[in-house]
Amino acid sequence: MIDVNSALSVIQSISAVQELVSLSIKGVTDAKARAQIIHALDRLGEEQQKLFVIQAELFRLQSENEELRKKISCFEKWEQEKALYKLVNTKGKATVYEFSSEPKHYACPSCYNEKRLEVLQDQRNISGQFKCPKCNQLYPIKVMKLPTQPPNENLGSWQSS
Ligand SMILES: [Zn+2]
Repeated sequence: MIDVNSALSVIQSISAVQELVSLSIKGVTDAKARAQIIHALDRLGEEQQKLFVIQAELFRLQSENEELRKKISCFEKWEQEKALYKLVNTKGKATVYEFSSEPKHYACPSCYNEKRLEVLQDQRNISGQFKCPKCNQLYPIKVMKLPTQPPNENLGSWQSS
């Protein structure tokens, strides 16, 4: 496949041929031959101009191709990541995405809709709320607790409460 560099190589080859043809004209005295050489030089110049246009177009297409590859890669990464989450209703009546592996956590459904995974953080409050660090949305993940209940320091406790 021809790329920007091979197009540049052809342009440089044409330049080299132009130089040789320009040098050859010096020893030519015949007017007809000189006219033919000048015509050939003009043709080479025209072809070189066309190649410059092709090279610019190739560069544009390669950049676009690279950009699309990046987008596809991001899309595939997102598809793989989101497959690990499922929408659940928590005990506190929140509807959030739950990670299906370890460590257990929830993801913000609002950010999920924008193809972003944001892990909800336990606010350790009596309302049993978890907060999205990105959009600051609060979700009642756990069942509301009485204020007199001592805080449970067990890190895995939010799953069972
Ligand atoms: Zn969010």
